[in-house]
Amino acid sequence: MNQEMAERGYFGEFGGSFVPPELQEVLDHLEAQFLKYKDDPEFNEEYRYYLREYVGRENPLTFAKQLTEKWGGAKIYLKREDLNHTGAHKINNVIGQILLAKRMGAKRVIAETGAGQHGVATATACAMFGMDCIIYMGAEDTRRQALNVFRMELLGAKVVPVEKGQGRLKDAVDEALNDLIANYRNTFYLLGSAVGPHPFPTMVKHFQAVISEESKRQIFEKEGRLPDAVLACVGGGSNAIGAFAHYIDEPSVRLIGVEPDQAPSLTEGVPSVLHGFKCLVLLDEQGNPKPTYSIAAGLDYPGIGPEHSNMKVNGRAEYVTVTNEEVLEAFQELSRTEGIIPALESSHAVAYAKKLAPTLDKDKILIINLSGRGDKDVEQVFHMLHK
Ligand SMILES: *Cc1c(COP(=O)(O)O)cnc(C)c1O
Repeated sequence: MNQEMAERGYFGEFGGSFVPPELQEVLDHLEAQFLKYKDDPEFNEEYRYYLREYVGRENPLTFAKQLTEKWGGAKIYLKREDLNHTGAHKINNVIGQILLAKRMGAKRVIAETGAGQHGVATATACAMFGMDCIIYMGAEDTRRQALNVFRMELLGAKVVPVEKGQGRLKDAVDEALNDLIANYRNTFYLLGSAVGPHPFPTMVKHFQAVISEESKRQIFEKEGRLPDAVLACVGGGSNAIGAFAHYIDEPSVRLIGVEPDQAPSLTEGVPSVLHGFKCLVLLDEQGNPKPTYSIAAGLDYPGIGPEHSNMKVNGRAEYVTVTNEEVLEAFQELSRTEGIIPALESSHAVAYAKKLAPTLDKDKILIINLSGRGDKDVEQVFHMLHK
């Protein structure tokens, strides 16, 4: 890959920016501002300040002693993104982007949300920074996630239900992009995962990389060496790319992304353009993005970030799937064994670790990125277990 391609957000053949010219101008400006501030000491000091004082970082790398003994193989460590304010990793990226929005003079922040988690994280930060917040959400999703709509409203956001199309995440993204084109002078589009046209995947990775920056330091403090594998669930790919970032250039560390077997973008996807960037996409027979149905709403996306697409093709990372039954079992097992109720999304990584750990020697080390806490999922799991 030549330098110019890398700078335009290409990872092998994936990534790039496939958008109308009026949107390209906005993205070029955003890229220039991101490049200007990402290494700016004052900007980074402020970013670190809010991660510490508001998000509650650094969070622990917890040794899961009971689980390790029960599974009887590799040592299991949990990176505790579940302990962040708002309960997941998404806030890391939201804080970074909203500080950039402030520097760019934006008064309005817009975002898309599917299940509502990115909308809640964005509304939270907008409340603290005194920004107007508009969240686009598919109309169907607003009905299924009424409590998250109320949460965003409590935080002062305006939630706009999108009736177009199927009333799902994809339609909300289209509406947010239209808003951005119309209002780019005072508006910042705060994108929630490592997807979308350049510079979003690169920017989201930059702000989520704090996860592996911390875990690498922590594992050296505890074990004096690198882990043998890092596992993370993959929706759009932001918690996984953040958990992998500081290990990508350490070839001895296996990087393992775990997908639902009902939304296996990386395992079964083909190269295609979705939402303005090229990635591995699940397509139906007509060549349209396939509707996906994960029990974990945060993993319900037919595409996947461009860097993951490339690491799948070049073999740097492994991508595997687990079933709903395995996920439900892992959700309960971590709760019972360690007293930690994980998000259903994160339970995918736990479920695969349960299969991998017993095949490895006791001196091996696995880090599971616990992307979020499971409070939001308790009611859904209750219904699934009682039907
Ligand atoms: C949103 C979410 C995910 C999936 O998003 P990624 O961008 O793939 O990380 C995973 N876990 C939790 C807890 C989430 O809220």
